[in-house]
Amino acid sequence: MIFFPNNSMRQIIIDAEESCPEEACGLLWGKRCEGDVHVSSVHRSKNCAEDPQTKFEINPQLRFDLERLAREGEMDVVGLYHSHPNGPAKPSKIDLSRAWETALTWVIIGLEEGKVVEKKAYKVEKPKERFVEIDIQVVNSQ
Ligand SMILES: [Zn+2]
Repeated sequence: MIFFPNNSMRQIIIDAEESCPEEACGLLWGKRCEGDVHVSSVHRSKNCAEDPQTKFEINPQLRFDLERLAREGEMDVVGLYHSHPNGPAKPSKIDLSRAWETALTWVIIGLEEGKVVEKKAYKVEKPKERFVEIDIQVVNSQ
């Protein structure tokens, strides 16, 4: 299960809709606890892909900065999100080929006509670089 404060989930939805027709992307910051992931904030990234309408590339500098911050406390980069501007929240072939970090949870947002219609989360399972869907729970932000 992955837990989101509702303001973080709202941020992802706004990013996905604002970025449309390009793919939105960003990193999830939080902690892992007993097999669950607790997101505390989301960090929007510029989509650095050459073709941002069909691919996404998170700004390596953002990842670097967060990883550095992670060394100072108990929080870490726990996942990433991206959107499919014209499709279901299902991992694409490209997504599957890039799912090699088992520590990261993937959140995929599906849009139709510019509006978010689907939100799904997946963990990457070894040994076959396979995605397994996990539940998303949105909780009230303090
Ligand atoms: Zn994708």
